[in-house]
Amino acid sequence: MRTRDQTQGAEFGPDGLPSALVLTFDNLGEASELERGTWPEGATLGNHASVTDVLPRLLDELDGRGLTATFFVEAINCELYPDALLEIARRGHELGMHGWCHEPWAELSPEAERESLARGMRAFATLGIEVRGFRPPGGGLTQRSPALLREAGIAWCSPAGGRLGVRDDVVYVPFDWRLVDAYHLMARFSTLRVSRGEAAPALAPGALAGRLTAELDALPCGGGQQTLILHPFLMVEEAWCAGAREVLGRIGRLAGGGRIWVVPGGRFADWLREPTRSCGLAPDAESRTGPASRRGVADRPREPTHSRVIEE
Ligand SMILES: [Zn+2]
Repeated sequence: MRTRDQTQGAEFGPDGLPSALVLTFDNLGEASELERGTWPEGATLGNHASVTDVLPRLLDELDGRGLTATFFVEAINCELYPDALLEIARRGHELGMHGWCHEPWAELSPEAERESLARGMRAFATLGIEVRGFRPPGGGLTQRSPALLREAGIAWCSPAGGRLGVRDDVVYVPFDWRLVDAYHLMARFSTLRVSRGEAAPALAPGALAGRLTAELDALPCGGGQQTLILHPFLMVEEAWCAGAREVLGRIGRLAGGGRIWVVPGGRFADWLREPTRSCGLAPDAESRTGPASRRGVADRPREPTHSRVIEE
């Protein structure tokens, strides 16, 4: 059962809708398997079914539904699948960074974290792709992350949990595991599921599609903001490919219903940052966290943390 969250009662987007869904996809290709050491030794790189088979169909599906999303991909994909990344961008979607090679972010040393961000930003820049969003692999950040993300030029970040808002000039758009397909479908997440009061066994794809569509149906009525994460590599399996198509179909219909703003994270973050926005989202809004302050940040001595958050 959902409790009332911090964003309920707010209005979202240029049309002041009662709810918002930030639509995102995580992971691409063999990066996470390389990181975990489960990629078969000697197997050819650059030919993963999530890219060659799933991605073209997914992009068509999104086009057909009139949906745009954020694709958080490991930056190593700039080298393995440059054409695929350029195609994602060409079709109007946002590319965000999901680590260099899906390294568990919360476990990185400060040096490794800084190097991974810098290497990733360079790889995207080489392709001519501007990256403004970041989602930490594994969902967790380090204590140093806020400073390092800002230093790397990241404008918005989507970790697991925490509060929606602008802190130290980075917009945080968190996700809840409840709206992550991998969390429900994969055996690897059973410990996390149990710790959150859910059953240990994974859900069947059909059951998950039903559960996600019910959650999405409830969003425009209950109001508030949610972040959905789907994984292309899970859609290699036909059963979840069909499930994901059902979920995206529901999102497309909801988006057309005029009560939910379905949006990539970067556009949502820009909207949240607007200092003139008058939707009552930010009772402790700090005007200095807006774009004007970003321009002036180099002119001023470093100031204490300013937060613009949505209060509970
Ligand atoms: Zn991931």
